[in-house]
Amino acid sequence: MAYLSNPTYTKAVLEAHGFSFKKQYGQNFLIDGNILDKIIESADITKDDFVLEIGPGIGTMTQRLCEEAKEVVAVEIDKTLLPVLEDTLSTYKNVTVINEDILKVDIKKLAEEKNEGKPIKVVANLPYYITTPIIMELFESHVPLESITIMVQKEVADRMQEGPGSKEYGALSLAVQYYSAPEVVCVVPPSCFMPQPKVASSVITLRCHEKPPVECNEKLLFQLIRASFNQRRKTLQNGLSNGLHFSKEEISQAIAEAGFSPTIRGEALSLQDFARLADILSR
Ligand code: SAM
Repeated sequence: MAYLSNPTYTKAVLEAHGFSFKKQYGQNFLIDGNILDKIIESADITKDDFVLEIGPGIGTMTQRLCEEAKEVVAVEIDKTLLPVLEDTLSTYKNVTVINEDILKVDIKKLAEEKNEGKPIKVVANLPYYITTPIIMELFESHVPLESITIMVQKEVADRMQEGPGSKEYGALSLAVQYYSAPEVVCVVPPSCFMPQPKVASSVITLRCHEKPPVECNEKLLFQLIRASFNQRRKTLQNGLSNGLHFSKEEISQAIAEAGFSPTIRGEALSLQDFARLADILSR
């Protein structure tokens, strides 16, 4: 079987199987070998690695992952892609395709069963309609993770890297930076996909921290972050007063004790600042 990462082979496979794209699953298949090389290189896969691929599509990236890794599990929601994958992955013995919605898979259990609980690598050209829920599920369910190398909408990748003061800075930036060190690998134009998406994409690698960069009550930290950015235009004081179990006085005292101005907004606070506030409030 020839590699799929070019328009001619991709078209031939799609036609041979009478496949039609399903927009609701965010199906934009990669047709550029150079981008594929960059993804594989940045994911730094070795023969010791267990790799989880989310949304293999027709198997373009899966083929390369099978060649580089010890074992690959690919989770694909669209059952009409199963016969295609059986065909394109027929020469590989180290791959299992699971027909399921990734948000319903117990990834922690999968990592335990397949990789003895050791950190796994996740590689994916993600369906853009559920990028954030997938990333948050991977982090918050405490799956043992070494790295996540993903193709996402360019502006989402930018948001993951932002710091305080930027318009794009928000809950996603803080969550990603709490759990990992993000690095954008390359920007990918719509012409690298079939069919072409309306927006530019980026490949980003999130190298997961062994220990978070701040130590505090994690649950409270994320409650504070969510409450601050849910009402972005409000002051931190007002944002936190809604929806948390603290009184207005407790919040204003904590803000003063942390050394912030009473009119400060959440978007001005760094991860360390949020952690300080969580520490004060959990006393
Ligand atoms: N990896 C392929 C590639 O690079 O050409 C396909 C990428 S395409 C952007 C996203 C893939 O994710 C599609 O195959 C789609 O059917 C699949 N998908 C969408 N939602 C999913 C979900 N909830 N769980 C698992 N796979 C999903």
